[in-house]
Amino acid sequence: MSRLSLPLAPGAASHTDPRQPVVVTLPDGETLAVKQLLDVDAHNPKLAKSLARGYRTAGLSLLPARLSGVNVCPGSSPGCRAACLNTAGHGGVFPAIHRRRLAKTLAWRKHRGWFAARLDLELSRFVRRCREEGYRPAVRLNVLSDLPWEDLVPTVFRHDARYYDYSAVRTRMERFLRQEFPANYSLCWSRKEDNEGACKRFLARGGTVSVVFAGPKPARFWGHPVVDGDADDLRFLDPPGVVVGLSAKGKARRDRTGFVVRDAAWPRTGRRHRPGDGKPVRRPTARVGSRVEEVYEERLHKNDGRPLL
Ligand code: SF4
Repeated sequence: MSRLSLPLAPGAASHTDPRQPVVVTLPDGETLAVKQLLDVDAHNPKLAKSLARGYRTAGLSLLPARLSGVNVCPGSSPGCRAACLNTAGHGGVFPAIHRRRLAKTLAWRKHRGWFAARLDLELSRFVRRCREEGYRPAVRLNVLSDLPWEDLVPTVFRHDARYYDYSAVRTRMERFLRQEFPANYSLCWSRKEDNEGACKRFLARGGTVSVVFAGPKPARFWGHPVVDGDADDLRFLDPPGVVVGLSAKGKARRDRTGFVVRDAAWPRTGRRHRPGDGKPVRRPTARVGSRVEEVYEERLHKNDGRPLL
């Protein structure tokens, strides 16, 4: 029995042939056939960035938090749920993507045997294709969830690939740092507005911690170096004890809960100076939540996070 037991839905089917799709019924009565579980880099802009470093990445995107009726993010916070990446990129624009994620989550809930077998089959094919094309395979099973796959489907780690995830479930991170995880599975702790104490403890023990920043990322945070987490998604290559800086995207740009760290790159004392002519630059003083500040954040985002001077 896994430590995180998700309830099986009534009438769960026993169909386990991974070459056949399973059909799920969505809450509005529509039926959808689930044929494919993993997205391979080209379909996910963030995962595609890893190609430049010689890795192909396959990711599993479920519907986060409790949006499917079952909680797949037990470490989530009000801030991260409101700002979730589910709303960023294509997922925030196309209802069809949202419905496909919902269908996959329901398939996990109702067709557990099929899901595990299908995941294994797709991973076999993915790893083989990577080898044929000269790429190294990387796998992220919790693109929009935080499920303990190491307990739920431990056989999934038998493939010769690097697995990685972000997590905010303390027991998972503790076990990872105690090296009780599959040897090819890495975790990066995910900062929320309510878990900063754990962030600092895990950093001190050599863990890595992701932090979402609005505006420019600082060079150091909490005394630790900051690496650019937007450059690629290969978290298992990060050195120990670093903060992984991510830019606020989608609804996160309007976060007011503290989930997104604001103005971290501005000096606490003294003034900032324009690189070209050295003229002093004033820190934006608009009230948090005001329309002026929202416009500033939007323009900053379009400017790739570089300060607007
Ligand atoms: S834990 Fe991650 S995937 Fe889940 S709601 Fe929060 S940001 Fe979204």
